[in-house]
Order: sequence, then structure tokens, then C-alpha cells
Amino acid sequence: MKTIIAGNWKMNLTVAQSIALAANVVTQANAALQSGALNADDVEIVLAPTALALYPVAETVRGSLVSVSGQNSYFEEKGAFTGEVSNGLLGAAGAQYCLVGHSERRQLFGETDEWVAKKTKALLDGGLTPIVCIGETLEERERNQTMDVVSRQLRAVLSVLNEDEAASMVLAYEPIWAIGTGRTASPEQAQEVHANLREVITRHSGSFVADRLRIQYGGSVKPANAADLLSQPDINGALVGGASLDAESFLAIITAS
Ligand code: PEP
Repeated sequence: MKTIIAGNWKMNLTVAQSIALAANVVTQANAALQSGALNADDVEIVLAPTALALYPVAETVRGSLVSVSGQNSYFEEKGAFTGEVSNGLLGAAGAQYCLVGHSERRQLFGETDEWVAKKTKALLDGGLTPIVCIGETLEERERNQTMDVVSRQLRAVLSVLNEDEAASMVLAYEPIWAIGTGRTASPEQAQEVHANLREVITRHSGSFVADRLRIQYGGSVKPANAADLLSQPDINGALVGGASLDAESFLAIITAS
């Protein structure tokens, strides 16, 4: 499985800052390719700028090993949906991926499992690869409900996809208590959830899907903890927030894989 490292820039950078950071990531990734620190056959690099910056960032990374992702999309194709961006518009602007169901969208914008499933299906229908985010709150973890919560979130999505669709999406396990807090799940904690998720996938969709579906870990991934997390057998990549806003630290995470 090809490791996939994605940077979620959230609502942080202007268009000009986004272009500059994307150019810096490409320069450093090219240098890492030349020095042998990075092998293009082993890792995919994805940047998720704001919708405003998506097109110029896609133009900036064109021809490099870096791809671009939306942070959010709406499942309708076009029409009177003020403020929304469709899959078709994202794809035409140069995106190959789109995040779905990030915990900030679930918690702050009321996105339900049903919406996340509809958006995931629409992205796949539109030729984009969804990066579907799931994860439990600290309260849920402390009540031993982690697997109940993440299995429910995952099954809602799997139940609307056929085998090929499910196998081609990317799943991101992001414990909410670890996002932006500096508190990371230990490699063992993350591996345990990832292995359990793969079992849920096997039971629900079969081993064809479970053997192909990549599961990223996200939540305060930094250069210092990336190698340990990414060496776990069921962790196939990382979704990186804060540390992706700096090209050096993002590249250090990528080369740690
Ligand atoms: C995220 O928002 O997806 C994330 C993992 O953020 P951070 O790396 O800053 O915890």
C-alpha cells in the first residue's frame, strides 16, 4: 500500500501564503527525491488548502508528486446552494481528493453520519478520492466507547458504497482529543484502533476492501512522533494539521514514513 500523507491547512492561509507554502513543499519534496530520502513509488503527498486557494495551489504543484484536496464539498452537482462547493467544481479546479466528515465539520457544523456518507458517495461518483475522517471524543474514549463510535461512523459510509468504491477511499482515524492539542495517541493506541477498524471493514465489506483501503492516523502528528506512528502495520499514512503549515516539518513527517 502506498503511504498517503495529507496536510490539512484548515482556515489558516491567504491565497498568496498558500501558493508560497505549496511551492516550498514541492521544492523540498523534489530535493528529497533527488537525495533518495523520498521514493515517489512509496508515498503520496496531498495538500488541502482552502477552497479559495485550491486552484492556484493546484497550478503550483502541477507536474510534481504533490496532489491537491478540498477540505469540504457538497453532494449536489450544481444549483442554488449558496456558499457550497461541489465535487465537479473541486475537480475542475484541480483537486483529486477531498476531506469528508472532519471532526470540526461534525462538531461545529452539525454534519451527521448520513451526510458524510452521502458526500463520500458523491465524491466517488464525481471521480474524486474521499478522505473520510472518523474519531471519538475524550469522553467517549474514557467511557470505553471508542470502537462503538468509530465503527458506527465507518459503517454509515461503507453501507452506501460498493466494494471498488470502498477500497478506493481513504479513511482517517482522528481521535478528537488529539487534534490540535499536542496530545497524540501512542503508536500502540492508534494501531489497536486501526487493526480493529480493518476487522470492521473485513466483516462489513470483505477482505478485498480491507486489504486495499488505506487508513491514515491524524492528531498532533509531528516530525518527532511520525516514524513510530507510521511504522505500525495498520497505519498507512497521516493526516496532518498544524505541522503541515511549515514545509520543513511537513517534509520531515513525509520522509519519516
Ligand atoms: C487535523 O485537523 O486533521 C489534525 C490532525 O490536526 P493536528 O495535526 O493539528 O492535530
